Amino acid sequence: MDLPDFNKKTQRLKKENQNFFRRLINRPPKNLDEIFHSTHDEVFENTDCLSCANCCKTTSPIFYQRDIERASKALKLKPGAFIEKYLRVDEEQDFVLQQAPCPFLNTDNYCSIYNERPNACREYPHTNRKKMYQILDLTFKNTLVCPAVLKITEEIRKKLEV
Ligand code: SF4
Ligand code: SF4
Repeated sequence: MDLPDFNKKTQRLKKENQNFFRRLINRPPKNLDEIFHSTHDEVFENTDCLSCANCCKTTSPIFYQRDIERASKALKLKPGAFIEKYLRVDEEQDFVLQQAPCPFLNTDNYCSIYNERPNACREYPHTNRKKMYQILDLTFKNTLVCPAVLKITEEIRKKLEV
């Protein structure tokens, strides 16, 4: 994955994608979930996340209590010690990582706590979720992070001819 190239491209398309998502928010098609889910499957069939890991390099998942318990157990730490070592509270009062890239990301882009990773990591980039109309703002923001979301957006724009 050529991330510098992706960054240039997504910045170039930022304004028009923002306008596209605004239009979708105002007038979501009835089959929005269907369109997103089929396009998600098509794009991820040809996406190699291990050659990318831009999500893990640049953003933090939210860690809910059950995520903290699972990850701290895997690292043989008490939840309190895990929080102190790795997490901070953000503006929305959620626990997030103190730093980016994620400290659990290995140099080969594998996650060192893969089986115990937070739910938000499992579900990222959320483009196969039900009720996509509820997260269109977030999906626009993810066009700036995730090459797959940018591609999904491009494909959906073509399908909807807007
Ligand atoms: S989910 Fe998106 S940002 Fe994360 S590794 Fe895959 S393509 Fe890259
Ligand atoms: S916990 Fe693993 S999957 Fe989640 S951001 Fe860190 S390296 Fe990526």
